[in-house]
Amino acid sequence: MPSFIAEELPKLLDVEPSNLERSFKNGNIKFYQSQGINGLQFRKSVGKIESGTMVCLGDKIEIIRGFPKIRRTLMLNPSLKIHFNNEVAVEEKMNGYNVRIALVNNKITAFTRGGYVCPYTTKKAPEILDMVDFFRDHPDQVICGEMVGTENPYVTHHYREIGKLGFKIFDIREKGSNKPMSVQDKVEILELYGLPNVKFFGIIDIDVAPERIFELVIKLGMDDREGVVIKDPKMEIDPLKYTSSQAHNGELQYAFTYPFDFGRAFFFSRVIREGFQAYELEESDDEIRTRAHILGESIIYPMIKTIKHVSKDNLAFEDIIIHVDELEEAEEFARHLRDLGVVATVNSFEQGKAIIRRVHQSTTDRISNFLRGGLY
Ligand code: ATP
Ligand code: MG
Repeated sequence: MPSFIAEELPKLLDVEPSNLERSFKNGNIKFYQSQGINGLQFRKSVGKIESGTMVCLGDKIEIIRGFPKIRRTLMLNPSLKIHFNNEVAVEEKMNGYNVRIALVNNKITAFTRGGYVCPYTTKKAPEILDMVDFFRDHPDQVICGEMVGTENPYVTHHYREIGKLGFKIFDIREKGSNKPMSVQDKVEILELYGLPNVKFFGIIDIDVAPERIFELVIKLGMDDREGVVIKDPKMEIDPLKYTSSQAHNGELQYAFTYPFDFGRAFFFSRVIREGFQAYELEESDDEIRTRAHILGESIIYPMIKTIKHVSKDNLAFEDIIIHVDELEEAEEFARHLRDLGVVATVNSFEQGKAIIRRVHQSTTDRISNFLRGGLY
């Protein structure tokens, strides 16, 4: 057991030494070295320290805390009234992947959710937004945002205002403590530095919040957008999320394209969301029938398409498009994915455009087996 973990780290994080020692022995805290970062990665939470936390060991110790999990409400009324005070701030929830950007060893570095330094994101983020002035003035803050767009290696979604790749900021948090800025301060500071905030729908009185949020989410859904995150304006209470029916169906379509590569909880949770949404909206028989129809199609069509595809002796795969300067960058990103346990290879590279093929192995193997008569 390195003495740093037994002696200094408990003080830095304000966590019991025995908890940290246990996590280290269980492999839930691991040494991490990549992209010039040397540190400790938290694979699971330890006390109040979130999973995804990175303790970077450079000239000085810099702690990039994990991004906190956002709980979901299934019933806006009464959840919001119980959970929040007099007012809520409502922001658009963007559908991409979570990125924390911080200055580590004086270098702008991008971490993905689990506390990995993603080479692609670290390279792309500074090309998309100029954070130099911000970090010069606020070296102890972490920019938390969503990388979105179609040339997105983790979660692709088309946004007309974004196109291939874009970044939207939703939180500014302090290194070490993870203390978030209030919504108003964040909006102002981002404006000041010309940095892109997620869409802010304003501060809404709690009494009208469920009704107003439904209007918003229904509109967002019609535009194929994911939903909202509802926040305490002071950021002293944890935020909640609420999503559109279109988002639930979109995720079901994707997951049922590769049904054996997702846990069952993934499917169940999306169906449950539909049930409560229909109930809270007091939908008519016709509206419920339409919802049922769409839900059924989201499940059955993609699944049958994949079964047919695999039956012709094909692998279940998806192609990820990224733009890089040279082949080696694409190779490096594919290696990064393989380190995360993903089956991925560079399929082609031409004029800066790399296609990375991600194979969904369990879906391929299990469907092939059933097609040959294997029993379920
Ligand atoms: P978790 O619930 O643990 O955060 P998840 O993968 O299930 O993880 P989502 O259902 O996508 O996540 O919801 C939470 C995520 O939404 C955040 O981690 C963040 O990346 C993203 N997000 C998008 N827009 C916002 C926003 N305006 N405010 C906060 N988070 C946002
Ligand atoms: Mg998401």
